[in-house]
Amino acid sequence: MRYQRSSALFAEAKKYIPGGVNSPVRAFKAVGGEPIFVKQAKGAYLHDEDGNQYIDYISSWGPLLFGHAHEPVLQAVIAKAKKGTSFGIPTEIETELAKLAVQMVPNIDKIRFVNSGTEACMSAVRLARGYTGREKIIKFAGCYHGHADAFLIQAGSGAVTFGSPNSPGVTQGTAKDTLLANYNDLEGVKALVAANKGEIAGIILEPVAGNMGCIIPKTEFIQGLRELCSQEDILLLFDEVMTGFRLAKGGAQQALGITADIVMFGKVIGGGLPVGAFAARADIMAHLAPEGPVYQAGTLSGNPLAMSAGLAMLTEIDQNPEVFDSLAQKTEHLHQGIAQVLTEKGMPHQINRFGSMLSVHFCEEPVVDFASSAKGNNAIFKKYFHGMLDQGVYLPPSAFESYFLNDAISYQDLDATIEAVKAVF
Ligand SMILES: *Cc1c(COP(=O)(O)O)cnc(C)c1O
Repeated sequence: MRYQRSSALFAEAKKYIPGGVNSPVRAFKAVGGEPIFVKQAKGAYLHDEDGNQYIDYISSWGPLLFGHAHEPVLQAVIAKAKKGTSFGIPTEIETELAKLAVQMVPNIDKIRFVNSGTEACMSAVRLARGYTGREKIIKFAGCYHGHADAFLIQAGSGAVTFGSPNSPGVTQGTAKDTLLANYNDLEGVKALVAANKGEIAGIILEPVAGNMGCIIPKTEFIQGLRELCSQEDILLLFDEVMTGFRLAKGGAQQALGITADIVMFGKVIGGGLPVGAFAARADIMAHLAPEGPVYQAGTLSGNPLAMSAGLAMLTEIDQNPEVFDSLAQKTEHLHQGIAQVLTEKGMPHQINRFGSMLSVHFCEEPVVDFASSAKGNNAIFKKYFHGMLDQGVYLPPSAFESYFLNDAISYQDLDATIEAVKAVF
């Protein structure tokens, strides 16, 4: 049996870990069946515990821009580990990574490192509230900002995959301060702002959404949000945990030509180790402890191993900015190839793509927000996902997640992937 050992490992894991996984989407609930267990990975390929090889299209959900076990990152982490793994005392490398990030990203002066994207978003909202003296935030249905209470209000990613956007355990008190709007619907946001005049601290969004599939913001929507925020003294929070250092050196701010007031990072900035960060202009960041009164802290924040992986990753990107064109061209090649196969097979589909993010939706209408994304045919998606897995292609195990290409993927791999789509349908 192709997945025998993975299956046994999953059974064992379920005895000791809820659902057998440490993050829900890994459990394959949305697509049925059982997850594969990874033994190791290099470059574009994953190898599972049964000896099967896969071309990997999730790249650890985004961080691995150059592929798995990328040498410069590995070497940096190994060298650093030999000098001690954690101190809880300042180290020079924290400043080195901060300086490089601030140079690469538009409109930020200072950055604070944390351990995950969740922490970054949670802390950024606290900072926005502390800075403005206001309590409410606006978020968009289908956008995912990690699992902090304030965001589990129609969140995307694993939270929708499980059909429980409003998680038990989130209090009414918390939920009432999170107002909900629809992605790409500027008028809806304006109405919310008017109805809550002077009470909105921040508007938080994925500047290119990736957690309800890949959804591209309309120009008038994203520009309109920027103008509205400036007029109403609302902070615009770009959750660039997915898009930061992936869509461009300067992330979505650069790719879209729109500046945000607070920017959150995760994924690529840690090079595959646990790092999150949030950043802003100096006058906003001055509100953060110990400079200001807004409290935020972390025992392992700025951890030397994590910083060394992040520094190696960002240095690679800084020195090889052509990686973004390379990734975008590869993603376009895949897009065209899959679209052609699905068209030939008479399969209704929508493919959304921005840079190296892509998602395939089995539906007739354009996918522009959460409601249109949720209309996809999940029975076909499941068949597609498992068919591809059997063909040695690892896709995100939910229609609400986007593909993240890594540059280790070759054109040969892309063509093999397109052939696999043909075989599946
Ligand atoms: C992954 C993700 C998060 C959460 O990051 P974690 O490191 O999983 O906590 C937040 N926002 C966006 C846009 C993400 O894609």
